[in-house]
Amino acid sequence: MSFKIALLPGDGIGPEVIAAAVDVLKLAGEKFNVEFELKEYPVGGISYDKHGTPLTDEVLQACYDSDAVLLGAVGGIKWDSLQRDMKPEAALLKLRKSLGLFINIRPAKVYNALLNSSSLKADVLKGTDLLILRELTGDVYFGEPRGIDDEKGFNTMIYTKKEVERIARYAFEVASKRKKKLHSVDKANVLETSQFWRKLVINISKDYPNVSLEHMYVDNAAMQLVRDPRQFDVILTQNMFGDILSDISGMITGSLGMLPSASLGNNYALYEPVHGSAPDIAGENKANPLATISSVGLMFIHSFQMNKAAELIEEAISRTLSAGYRTKDIAQPDNVIVSTTKMKDLVIENFNIIYDEQALGVFTL
Ligand code: NAD
Repeated sequence: MSFKIALLPGDGIGPEVIAAAVDVLKLAGEKFNVEFELKEYPVGGISYDKHGTPLTDEVLQACYDSDAVLLGAVGGIKWDSLQRDMKPEAALLKLRKSLGLFINIRPAKVYNALLNSSSLKADVLKGTDLLILRELTGDVYFGEPRGIDDEKGFNTMIYTKKEVERIARYAFEVASKRKKKLHSVDKANVLETSQFWRKLVINISKDYPNVSLEHMYVDNAAMQLVRDPRQFDVILTQNMFGDILSDISGMITGSLGMLPSASLGNNYALYEPVHGSAPDIAGENKANPLATISSVGLMFIHSFQMNKAAELIEEAISRTLSAGYRTKDIAQPDNVIVSTTKMKDLVIENFNIIYDEQALGVFTL
């Protein structure tokens, strides 16, 4: 088996976390007999400096020609004053749109070793393992008309039937393979868009009688996520609500540096850590590479059906953290603080150990 992956390291800490994740990717390829053809391309500020645009047609074509895209992060103060289309972040929007990525998946899982890194209480968090499925192409971010003048600012919140149905169906498929529990989050008490959303979700639910569906208003969902996150398994929600709820759920894991994400469409997939380019620590070998390494795990699950390899990555991360090793962003006073490359080496070491334990039957996933 062979897969083509476009690597887009980007700016700031992007190249550092991508380099770490690529080492893990290569190791998993060797162990599971999968060949990865990896090619690196510039995106974001680095692309602007070289080519005068944050995303060239050649790079976009390379993404079309690949089985998956792995992105680091883009952006930095140097490019902040550029006009909107030329900013590094514009590359992300163009990539998502061009590749037709309409589902954003953000898992929020708590590693026991990090229970005390969150601002939430450990006994509230313990055992949390939830997935937020955020619609990515519709809603108030893209609706027309929109505008601003001296008297008003306005946007249009709109969803089409096609947009709601395709993500709702996807959410029921995912829920049926997990705990068979789906929360659809909306604001149907106030917004017509949400009433439309809810009606279509209910219609689709008839095809999935084994999945229990619960509707929740977004304000309540925000409160419930903090009060008792364990009540959730899969959360399906509109673009803007997902934007906010996924950041709240981010705090469950304790750090931005821990959060992976996948953006999927019918034909393409892009994987990236949730964090940005962290210019404050770029080039210092301090960045936490675990979100990007976990994003490789999501790639294995959603693009390559390599679920076992993904589980091995998660277990390797878990053991590394349990042994007390941390990058600075997630460190507690009694931890051993390690660099980006050392953290990656430790994950690789544990990956190898778990792989061997598995072969000997000492450990089962
Ligand atoms: P950021 O996520 O880059 O950083 C926020 C804070 O978290 C910083 O203190 C940073 O050091 C820390 N941090 C983030 N990731 C970390 C990691 N892996 N390890 C350790 N610490 C980490 O957000 P920001 O500072 O608001 O934005 C910086 C730049 O990144 C901006 O140009 C912004 O537009 C861009 N950005 C890009 C993306 C993306 O590429 N997807 C997302 C968000 C922000």
